[in-house]
Amino acid sequence: MISIIGGGPSGNYAAYLLAKNGFKVNVYEEHKTIGRPVQCTGLITASIDDVVKIDDGCIINKIGNVRLVAPDGKELFLKLKKKNYVVDRVRFDKFFCEMASTEGAKYVFGKKLLDFRENGEIEMLFENGRAKTEVLIGADGVNSAVNRDKMRFVIGKQGRFKGTFEDDTFTVHLGIGSFSWIVPENKKTARIGVIGRDVNNAYNELMKKGKFKFIESQSGTVPVYDPRLKTQIRNVYLLGDAAGMVKATTYGGILYGLMAAQELNKALKNDDDYDRLWRARFGKELHLSLLIRRVLDRMKSDNYNELIETFSKEQLKKLISEHDRDFPSKFLFKLILKEPRLLKYMRLLL
Ligand SMILES: Cc1cc2nc3c(=O)[nH]c(=O)nc-3n(C[C@H](O)[C@H](O)[C@H](O)COP(=O)(O)OP(=O)(O)OC[C@H]3O[C@@H](n4cnc5c(N)ncnc54)[C@H](O)[C@@H]3O)c2cc1C
Repeated sequence: MISIIGGGPSGNYAAYLLAKNGFKVNVYEEHKTIGRPVQCTGLITASIDDVVKIDDGCIINKIGNVRLVAPDGKELFLKLKKKNYVVDRVRFDKFFCEMASTEGAKYVFGKKLLDFRENGEIEMLFENGRAKTEVLIGADGVNSAVNRDKMRFVIGKQGRFKGTFEDDTFTVHLGIGSFSWIVPENKKTARIGVIGRDVNNAYNELMKKGKFKFIESQSGTVPVYDPRLKTQIRNVYLLGDAAGMVKATTYGGILYGLMAAQELNKALKNDDDYDRLWRARFGKELHLSLLIRRVLDRMKSDNYNELIETFSKEQLKKLISEHDRDFPSKFLFKLILKEPRLLKYMRLLL
């Protein structure tokens, strides 16, 4: 018996893969339904197409351009080689849950894990009862009850707003919070938020960038990746946000959670080392993103202004537009080769 805690994308996709492989799988979800509350922008690069084919019904917008705005107001407009997807997180999470159910995974709703004990077998302690399992997978997000290590996190303050938006362009303001975003669902609705530093003041500043009418809050916390975290101890595994698998550059974690689910499935099927498998596939991307974030968070307004100016060079623009941000190792070194002066920002790490 495999017990998965958490019915988010990571847990549901792992449940699907493992059930398909013939394992008996139970998923325990603390809420009464899948996908709510929504605490996510749902922006995913087209790299997801190389990982899993998602149903078109989950995608509510496809965005072809990004506008990066410097603190001095200068803009860098990039036409992305491959459009980004904006997903409806409720439909997206349900899509994976339905796939898992079809393969025979069982869902238990309204079941919140409080703790677990290991004594040969694993005993799970829920708010309302206990159960035993041979394998325990923590896919229970940033406040994981399965992960016993303390994770650092950042706060993302986001809302859905009515307004007037360009539906094919998302905007990122550098220097408002760690950064801030306006991601359109369509011409009339957008997901607008800030993350990182001083979010309340940053949010107020962002609200001055247009005429927005509040619909609902979608704020939440995002874990900061910690390379030292163990993601497997005997028969207990961690997956997705519960393992801090979020890239610190943009604080996106959906894609890595899905990739980790694939590696976990391989590991359990072939009795292989899960920790080694997922780190070999995307560990260096998480590491690099963390390093870049450390540099970005130490930048002052002048640095951001200069960075936008530098990236406005045609050759660099082309390089950035061609690569998905999930895999910085594929373009960071090329960027530095084309513009060695970027190396000077490394001194901010000292
Ligand atoms: C404001 C904001 C914006 C974001 N924007 C993006 C974005 O644009 N793109 C992107 O890729 N990522 C984004 N993220 C990050 C993304 O939301 C997460 O990386 C992703 O949801 C992780 O999926 P998961 O399945 O690992 O965890 P989650 O989606 O957090 O799912 C965990 C599940 O476990 C359940 N659970 C939790 N604790 C327990 C328990 N004790 N017992 C039982 N069940 C439990 C929860 O109810 C939930 O259903 C954003 C995050 C925030 C906060």
